Amino acid sequence: MNHDRLIQPFTRVKARPDGLRVECQVISWPHPSRRSSRWKKVKTLPTGSTAEEIGAARRLLLEDPRFFGVCQMCRERQPEGWMDSERVCQSCAEAKLGVVY
Ligand SMILES: [Zn+2]
Repeated sequence: MNHDRLIQPFTRVKARPDGLRVECQVISWPHPSRRSSRWKKVKTLPTGSTAEEIGAARRLLLEDPRFFGVCQMCRERQPEGWMDSERVCQSCAEAKLGVVY
């Protein structure tokens, strides 16, 4: 599976005095038609971590059910905020289950 589709837009690493802060974008819907997102700090890596270590930490976020879910209908991994339920993403819910957003 190509994880870059999600890693680039939904995870980031910020250099801070205490290390490299790994953050994940969390999407929420204060109103059904209005999307809001914020960055949540997940962990801090030591300054001087290698690109491989940083990449591994970002990929690990995709496996975290607090942030991403896998749709049982299209088999795509989606940000948690785009899941209609634990098992079905919003686009499948809309296209196949008749849910209206
Ligand atoms: Zn889906």
